[in-house]
Amino acid sequence: MILTDLPEQSLERFGEYPMLYAGDRQVTNLELRNSANRLANGLRRLGVTAGERVIVCMPNCPEVFIAYQGILRAEAVVLPVMTLLHPREIGFIIEASGASAIITSQSVLPAIEQAVADMDAPPKLVVAGLVRDQSGPTAGTPCHSLSSLMADAAAEIRKPALKEDDVAVILFTSGTTGQPKGVMLTHRNLYSNAASAVQLAEEANDEPGTTIGVLPLAHIYGFTVANTLFLKGGRMVIMQKFDVRAVCEAIQNHRVRAFATVPAMVHALTHAPEVDEYDVSSLESLGCGSAPLPVSLIEAFRARFHAEIYEGYGLSEASPTVTAHRKGEPIKPGSVGRAFPGVELRIADEKGDPLPVGEVGELLVRGENITPGYYNNEEATRAALKDGWFHTGDMARLDDDGYLYIVDRKKDLILRGGFNIYPRDLEELISRHPAVAEVAVVGVPSERMGEEVIAVVVRKPDADLCEEELLAFCQERLAKYKTPRNIVFMDALPRNGVGKILKKALREQASEQAR
Ligand code: ATP
Repeated sequence: MILTDLPEQSLERFGEYPMLYAGDRQVTNLELRNSANRLANGLRRLGVTAGERVIVCMPNCPEVFIAYQGILRAEAVVLPVMTLLHPREIGFIIEASGASAIITSQSVLPAIEQAVADMDAPPKLVVAGLVRDQSGPTAGTPCHSLSSLMADAAAEIRKPALKEDDVAVILFTSGTTGQPKGVMLTHRNLYSNAASAVQLAEEANDEPGTTIGVLPLAHIYGFTVANTLFLKGGRMVIMQKFDVRAVCEAIQNHRVRAFATVPAMVHALTHAPEVDEYDVSSLESLGCGSAPLPVSLIEAFRARFHAEIYEGYGLSEASPTVTAHRKGEPIKPGSVGRAFPGVELRIADEKGDPLPVGEVGELLVRGENITPGYYNNEEATRAALKDGWFHTGDMARLDDDGYLYIVDRKKDLILRGGFNIYPRDLEELISRHPAVAEVAVVGVPSERMGEEVIAVVVRKPDADLCEEELLAFCQERLAKYKTPRNIVFMDALPRNGVGKILKKALREQASEQAR
């Protein structure tokens, strides 16, 4: 299946209905398909040819859907880029991908202009919200208006000559652990993951309803949620940023039963007093993934919303979902559920050989959803893909029922005086202290021990908690070698666009602040 078939199938199966709500605006799937066709023709007229990379860097809005489909229909490759990136990081992605065009919005244009300022052959810029072609506001770069490009183009296209194993998307990882790499995903990869999600929903008799699109559509998690919408029908209220009131209002007005989140959103919803002002009784469940979800937070969410959380685990290289809890099956808090249909899991030792059930090792994954490799990066591809198995870099274990438990990222493992310490164990424990809102544990260099354990803590509003008290709490409950040497208090933890804690940045900040 080719991703450009999705809107056609959706139209055939579900008819023409409003698919996207964005503020007062509604977009039907027929409008979406026709706009995508117009954009494909417009991009061709601009000179974009098959296989070229086109960046999409816009906040969530219907134009992101149109851009993704339009680029694919022009037989080009989509490169979603998060708007929160620094111009330097955007510049890195432009150069590493050799993108020939960028579709963006006026709000992001100054950052894009800065990113391309010193380039000899900058990509062509297409800007949503411009009434006509004009110069950019900061550097005067020539900008094409997205609406004129589409208005001047036909709404019919020739069928794209694409194959299932053609690369559809290149996603640069967020670089929470190092230099971002361009993950190539084929039509087959992306379709298989979206189809598995729909298969599980159908097995659970889960009727499509209206969902909330608050995850960045530029992240693989948001991207695949968008693909599933075409496949299973339903509608999406699109939001540019997570705001508790806006989310509760959407739940209330659209009787939303379920939507996809990340732990930072679950945390905000669970602790926000304003939730009580809304009727959120329609909410039955949240999907959650992309970072560890503390068990204490699952319990607090369930108590507050009388709704379930289906935690899953995934990564860009797996399009993204690898495992998930599913409706109608036991939920095991602390686990990330069972393998998605068509996905094989292996817990392996250093050599890649399987370990017995219950033992901790690196998680390897195989299936139709797995990337063929990194763009222009043979070395990284060879290191990650061996005999068809993708090496996730996550340490994990399986139980007898096939439930997966992520122990931690291999790279976040702390080596203190010869002992391995998994930050996640400590984070689970510290998050149980009543005055702790959020915690992240990192290792910082130490001459004596190799690495030292630092816990970075955000206190609950008005909580009175000092370092000595929290250290004592840890000492009473942890082996001595695992006990943090210091507690560093911060007002907020540094996070990326999907709310994932930036441990590399945190490590630097924490080692400066720790005594
Ligand atoms: P980079 O590889 O550049 O650091 P990234 O890891 O943020 O970027 P993603 O593909 O967005 O790139 O994230 C995948 C990682 O997120 C997984 O390898 C895993 O470590 C983590 N992750 C995802 N879901 C969960 C979960 N439910 N529990 C714990 N960790 C998770």
